[in-house]
Amino acid sequence: MGIMPTYCQICGLPVNFDHYLPQDDGTLYIWRGDEGEGGDEDEDKAREPAIAFGSQHAWLRRAVGLDFGDGPAVEPPMEGEVHSGYLEPDDEQREGQYVMDGAFDVAAVHRACWVLAGHPDSFKPLEHLQLPEAEEPYRGQLFEFAAFVADGHGWMLVDPDEDSPDGRHSRQRIIALLS
Ligand SMILES: [Zn+2]
Repeated sequence: MGIMPTYCQICGLPVNFDHYLPQDDGTLYIWRGDEGEGGDEDEDKAREPAIAFGSQHAWLRRAVGLDFGDGPAVEPPMEGEVHSGYLEPDDEQREGQYVMDGAFDVAAVHRACWVLAGHPDSFKPLEHLQLPEAEEPYRGQLFEFAAFVADGHGWMLVDPDEDSPDGRHSRQRIIALLS
């Protein structure tokens, strides 16, 4: 797979940490922060990511794949991690699915956003949602984390379940998008 961002189809934020890091030699390094497909954990550890990822950001990587509700929902929605447009399920008995930039075989959403949406069985009740436009400038070929935080939007990256001013603010933002 090539380079592919994936955005939550509820909140519009990325479902992983993948981003470009400009290198001294003018090239761009892709920092993924783990051993995900195409990534190199040791290479990542040798570099500082564009923003300081912490436990308050872990929710961004917990994805759920929702089918489009066109057939009978025989299985619970698949949970896992997304790399390069592919949802790798936690349950090794299940086959992964392509989500591409957000919706393909299934729609990708953050687990936290899915819970706030009332954990629907499919994407059907959510299909009217539009990705929030305010974050569009940062949804590049990979998400522009550094610019996003530099512009004062870092609170949106905070876990909506966190009991802090930024966490509550983040939660309110997602609830407003769902209403
Ligand atoms: Zn989300």
